[in-house]
Amino acid sequence: MIVSKFGGTSVGSAKNINKVIQIVSNKNEKTVVVVSALGGITNLLINASELAKIGDIEYETTLAEIKSRHDKTIEELFKEEDRDQIKIYVSNVLGQLKETLNGVFLLKDLSDKSLAKIVSTGEIISSFIIARSMKNQGLNAVLKDSRELIKTDSNYINALINNDLTYNNINTFIKSNTNDIIVFPGFIASDSKNETTTLGRGGSDFTAAIIAKAVNADVLEIWTDVSGMFSANPKLVKQAKPIQQISYQEAMELSHFGAKVIYPPTIQPVLDKKIPILIKNTLAPSEKGTLISKNINGNQSIVKGISHIENIALLTLEGNGMVGVPGISKRLFESLSQEKINIKFITQASSEHSICLAIDVSEAKKAKETIDKQFEFEIIQKKIKPLVVEKDLAIIALVGDNMKSHQGISGKMFSVLGNNNVNIRAIAQGSTEKNISAVIAKRNVKKALNSLHAAFFESHIKQINLFIVGIGNVGGKLLEQIKQQQEFLLNKLHLNLKVIAISNSKKMFFEPDGVDLSNWKTLLNSEGKTADLNEFYKNVKNLNLQNSVFVDNTANNDVPKQYINYIKDSVAVVACNKIACSSEYDNYMNLKQLSREYNAPFLFETNVGAGLPIIDTLNNLIASGDKITEIQAVLSGSLNFIFNYFNDKTSFYDVVKQAGIEGFTEPDPRIDLSGVDVMRKILILIRESGVEMELEDIDNNSFLPQSSLDADSVDDFMETLKTEAKHFNQIRQEAETKGCRLKYVAEYKNGKAKVGLQHITKDHPFYNLDGKDNIVLFYTNRYKEQPLIIKGAGAGADVTASGIFGDIIRTGNK
Ligand code: ADP
Ligand code: ASP
Ligand code: MG
Repeated sequence: MIVSKFGGTSVGSAKNINKVIQIVSNKNEKTVVVVSALGGITNLLINASELAKIGDIEYETTLAEIKSRHDKTIEELFKEEDRDQIKIYVSNVLGQLKETLNGVFLLKDLSDKSLAKIVSTGEIISSFIIARSMKNQGLNAVLKDSRELIKTDSNYINALINNDLTYNNINTFIKSNTNDIIVFPGFIASDSKNETTTLGRGGSDFTAAIIAKAVNADVLEIWTDVSGMFSANPKLVKQAKPIQQISYQEAMELSHFGAKVIYPPTIQPVLDKKIPILIKNTLAPSEKGTLISKNINGNQSIVKGISHIENIALLTLEGNGMVGVPGISKRLFESLSQEKINIKFITQASSEHSICLAIDVSEAKKAKETIDKQFEFEIIQKKIKPLVVEKDLAIIALVGDNMKSHQGISGKMFSVLGNNNVNIRAIAQGSTEKNISAVIAKRNVKKALNSLHAAFFESHIKQINLFIVGIGNVGGKLLEQIKQQQEFLLNKLHLNLKVIAISNSKKMFFEPDGVDLSNWKTLLNSEGKTADLNEFYKNVKNLNLQNSVFVDNTANNDVPKQYINYIKDSVAVVACNKIACSSEYDNYMNLKQLSREYNAPFLFETNVGAGLPIIDTLNNLIASGDKITEIQAVLSGSLNFIFNYFNDKTSFYDVVKQAGIEGFTEPDPRIDLSGVDVMRKILILIRESGVEMELEDIDNNSFLPQSSLDADSVDDFMETLKTEAKHFNQIRQEAETKGCRLKYVAEYKNGKAKVGLQHITKDHPFYNLDGKDNIVLFYTNRYKEQPLIIKGAGAGADVTASGIFGDIIRTGNK
């Protein structure tokens, strides 16, 4: 015999009920079908009860919604001629419900007995509709009210089964029954006085397990809306996969810690008889699902799943008066048990100085009152402190039978959480070592689940979540490169790069599942919101994704002010924007220091020499114990381009304009031509060499005439390049007569730095520097006579974008 339970979503609509009937009609042995209320109805019933209890007439609206949900299903499920009869039955049941709710409303009192009666309505109606529909479709089915067979105590909301009586009743009934299919309402039962009781939220699973045990079924099938028990809640972890096989104990632990796909008490009855449980998807019946059984075959992973419970409160009882005093824990647990408060997690400090408990937050107030009362005497004597209650927490648990025989699982768990800036409030390891659980802030749940899942189940794949500000020349190229490389990175480097948000100065667009990079311009324009740096930051913070990287492709002064916020949230920062690293030394150092503290990389390779590996090389020299003694460099791709192409056939104005068009200058060319851009770059190299220096400490010997220096706007400035043509021609001719070339050189020597135009002779390594190339000569303790030279394209959107790309990949290696 098979016992098949269909959950709320499986019977949530006429379409799904037909799927259920299809599944059941394919069975060729006797089948017991246990059904839940239509999805969402139990919640509505509870909601209506609560409204009625506080005297809010709005309960009638909820009631109307309950009625219309059922009416709609009946209309879609039944032929016109059958509908009336069914509707009469349903309106009868709903009429009784209305009366009970009205009583609650008038008395403003909701007893557990009334509540059980109210919520039982969902299963009473659903089982009636489903059994009737089966019969109408020609199946040999019968409905049996579970309340006649499943007998419990009078704890109406979480009733305990009277085992002997119940198993006997079920057995006798089923043995004498000749139908192919028996439909039972799940969740509901009755006490010795035949009053309706319920088995706790999610209790239909338990009904099915009791019946399975009573009839010694071959298998207990739990049909739901997902294809099995997943390695983590699939609604929160996209990469989660169904677990093919799992032991009873593992399933029990996972469900205890929140994997609500199966109600925890369900497992015990079938475990007693070693009846396997098969979790299947009603919406995709051909998928394998999860088999829960005693013996599991094949290679099993050490960690089977990760589950979590939200809405947790942590209670800490603490005090010197607890040390070595017997009976404290007993009193603590007894007082909670008297109030029927369920403890989900316990840890005790080895000093016995404190005990930590986790419970559902809804019970925190009651717990505080009862515990403070229990220890009133000790609290007055200051031997124990009043109970401390912390809220907005969650429990996250790793589960696996084999964890006990493997070391380092908890270490890995904590380092993964630590790396993602998830603070752990308390830790517990079950005595069976089948679970390790930790209490964390509720807001970190999604991040914690995803990063733990990545570490334990997708160890080979790391998802990096990108938030990109600045999508002009450089940013646009970056998006292009990411799109092109995504597959390669996934296959070769096991990195899954996802662009979660993009923004320019006008609009910003967020897509938590990843922006479609073949369509980003349209998405930004049609669906983007008004750009706002603070809002952007808030969104990143709220999404709270693991391995997040903020990418600044702008030359904007305000964007870098946000770096500190990102870093403090453990979001890595990758910038081609030089403002932050060339601002006050303290600010630069602070960012670097915070980056270490929060384990959030702060990378800016493209600040100097675009994609050339200049800063990386410098960092490697320093890290390996070398010391920089002198730097000589041509660091401005734009100035190099300009002086390379400035000759007697072109005007200075034209070459500057051309450099702008080609994207080699900063958006404001004055930054390049004044030498400020080069000053910033050499400053960054000096600082990365370990020397403290400010921008003002650098000598800038400008080649610009006063009128250009004084220009107020870009246009005025460009104009002066025309009017001062003579000045520029003269500079060029002076160099030419000496057989020299003009290079804008940055130098650092003997602790001093300067930038300026220099006459470069033929024998100098800078002489043949083409186009927009950069060159850097590092003289160090190791490279004394012959410097270490890095040379290559130092400007341009493509190479800059690839430098940023490199930094992004590097954040993945943290
Ligand atoms: P039903 O109405 O069928 O009883 P439930 O809503 O009680 O369904 O349980 C199924 C839901 O459990 C899934 O939709 C999923 O959101 C949630 N869930 C939580 N953790 C897990 C997990 N580890 N594996 C599968 N589902 C899970
Ligand atoms: N309908 C009940 C609930 O929602 C029981 C169940 O679905 O298992 O809790
Ligand atoms: Mg359920």
